[in-house]
Amino acid sequence: MSAHALNMQRALELAKLQSGRTGQNPSVGCVILDRDGQRLGEAATGDGGRPHAEQLALTNMPVGAASGGTAYVTLEPCRQRSTKEASCSQRLVDAGIARVVIATRDPHPLGSGGIARLREAGIQVDLGILGEEADLFYADFFASVSS
Ligand SMILES: [Zn+2]
Repeated sequence: MSAHALNMQRALELAKLQSGRTGQNPSVGCVILDRDGQRLGEAATGDGGRPHAEQLALTNMPVGAASGGTAYVTLEPCRQRSTKEASCSQRLVDAGIARVVIATRDPHPLGSGGIARLREAGIQVDLGILGEEADLFYADFFASVSS
């Protein structure tokens, strides 16, 4: 298994551990590496759906540590929040992340568009790493969004 897939597998594992505890929000897993590929931190969506995984992972590391690094996220980082907090895509941009690897897209109206936002900021985005596994894991969430 490639390093990419291994890191995403860890992110999916974190998401699965939190499954059923995140309210109406999907359980997302996030692993962040520094510019040298060392694992800086990881997190899953908080109990009840907040904070989001990316937010939690970034706030648990020193400011600037993630600059030039790579984030692995099981679901497209949100473009907007229903609260007035900064979205995860904005937080990843602000942290100076250079590359975001995403398993699958978020069909939710507020989540969708995060990839475009990251790319606009010059971040390299790779989509579909362990995508099938993620699609299976998020099947219920996807169904709830489209209904
Ligand atoms: Zn988010």
